[in-house]
Amino acid sequence: MYSVLKRKKGFTLASIISCIVLFSVLITIVINVIIAFKSQRESLYNNTLELNRITAGDLSKTTQSLVISMKRSLEITATYLSDADLESSAVLAQLDFFMGTNHYFNSIAVVNAKGVIVSTSPNNLGVIGRKVSTEEATQALKLQKPHISKPYISPSNRMIVFVSQPVFSREGAYRGYVAGTIYLQHENIFREILGVQNENNSGSYFYVVDEEGNMIYHPHMEDHPKNVSMNAAVQQLMQGKSGQQQVTNSQGVDFLAGYSVVPETQWGIVSQTPVSYIEQQSWELITDMLKVSAPFVLLLLFLTLWLSRMLASPLNRLANYAAQLTMMDQMPDTLPSQVHWNYEANQLNATVALAFHEMKRKNDELFQESQTDALTGLPNRRTLKLVTEDLDRRQIPFSVIMLDLDHFKSVNDEFGHPKGDEVLRLLAAMMLEHKREGDFCFRYGGEEFTIVLPYTSEEDAFGVAEQLRKQMGQADTPIGRQVTLSLGIASHSNQLSEIDDLFKQADDALYAAKHNGRNQTILHSQLSEQSA
Ligand code: GH3
Ligand code: MG
Ligand code: MG
Repeated sequence: MYSVLKRKKGFTLASIISCIVLFSVLITIVINVIIAFKSQRESLYNNTLELNRITAGDLSKTTQSLVISMKRSLEITATYLSDADLESSAVLAQLDFFMGTNHYFNSIAVVNAKGVIVSTSPNNLGVIGRKVSTEEATQALKLQKPHISKPYISPSNRMIVFVSQPVFSREGAYRGYVAGTIYLQHENIFREILGVQNENNSGSYFYVVDEEGNMIYHPHMEDHPKNVSMNAAVQQLMQGKSGQQQVTNSQGVDFLAGYSVVPETQWGIVSQTPVSYIEQQSWELITDMLKVSAPFVLLLLFLTLWLSRMLASPLNRLANYAAQLTMMDQMPDTLPSQVHWNYEANQLNATVALAFHEMKRKNDELFQESQTDALTGLPNRRTLKLVTEDLDRRQIPFSVIMLDLDHFKSVNDEFGHPKGDEVLRLLAAMMLEHKREGDFCFRYGGEEFTIVLPYTSEEDAFGVAEQLRKQMGQADTPIGRQVTLSLGIASHSNQLSEIDDLFKQADDALYAAKHNGRNQTILHSQLSEQSA
């Protein structure tokens, strides 16, 4: 039964506070991380778009001046060629000089008015003497104006773009054109000039498209679609607009793109960063933030948990103490009256201590009352039973004197019950006076009393009984006349097994004393002798 009582029902205050604290800290961290992540992501998102717009603008300016320089240098060469013999070695040398002094083009060629390639640098291209056949080259011939071609596959099977400048004689006759070619899938001027900004660790890169969305430059030109006009940023460029927006490329990857038109050519530059980089960057920042704050959070958590335990500990002690009170066999003697730094805990402790002391006092009082007779102050019959059982258990021999006032009814009748009570108190006082050290006096019930005498023979008990009887016979009583006693004695040394039998024997002896004329003491052993 006690084990059921001992089992703890419900959660302890300390664990509840700890759980609340833990929960609050975790929720706070989660909310903070979400907010930090969102704001971090948003500002990175906007900054990246802005940065790409600026980058595209810068690259557009660079490309613009690059193209102007290319055109200008071809113009100068065209002027030089105006009266020259286009097939001469001087022209060849001029072309070689051109190629040697700048890196604008991968090759340069002179085409005469009939469309025949007459001179190239480098001169090992193997095309001299051939007639141009491609649409782009034919168009350049027809136009007789400075021209930039679309990207296309040349007869030598290269993806190219060329910039051409017509050659006119001094008289104004059209003599053909000089064209600088850029090999789009090889090392070229774009890679040289623009390529430095190509692909950094953020995954950002840029590309160049013409006004129809054909790819002019891309860091991975080889394995990239030739036309990207479906791209949202490219579509804006094709409408001549510069700006910034999120786009999805042909592989379904999201990018933050900034784009800008190159006015000179109507080409467009797109600078872009994968959205995944923003996410990764945001997470890195969050994990850094968590790493830095983790020790502080742990310290805070530990402190709060410790504090909650400290706050709950006096209540826990009191609860354990109260639980003990419900088990009477484990009732603690004193309350652990520890002084605590918490006001409420101290108040509670003091109140419980007060209640405990009051309860204990009441308990002791009730116990005392249950053991004693209220009228005489002597231990009662219940205590008599406990004392004799204890002696029996410890195998201590003892004698019992049973005594009864003679004709007490008549005392009550003549002098009243209160006077009778006084006589009873007088007898009790005399019993205490005449008992020896170690003897026990009891009120057995009514006007019958008992004395238990450990380690005492019937004869010695007789001595004690006689002394009491004589003293009572001579006493100055509250009723102003003699009150006598009859006494019966039995002894445990008779090897009786049952205590009840011993009292019966003493009672029998008392009865015999009454029968014999009262005011006398009879030993039980005398009765057996008489009957024998
Ligand atoms: P006997 O000599 O045979 O003992 O005669 P008795 O009159 O004493 O007879 P008995 O012992 O039977 O009577 C007991 C009387 O004791 C009856 C009752 O009124 C009285 N008595 C019992 N308890 C009390 C008490 O607490 N106070 C008073 N005043 N009288 C009591
Ligand atoms: Mg009686
Ligand atoms: Mg009597």
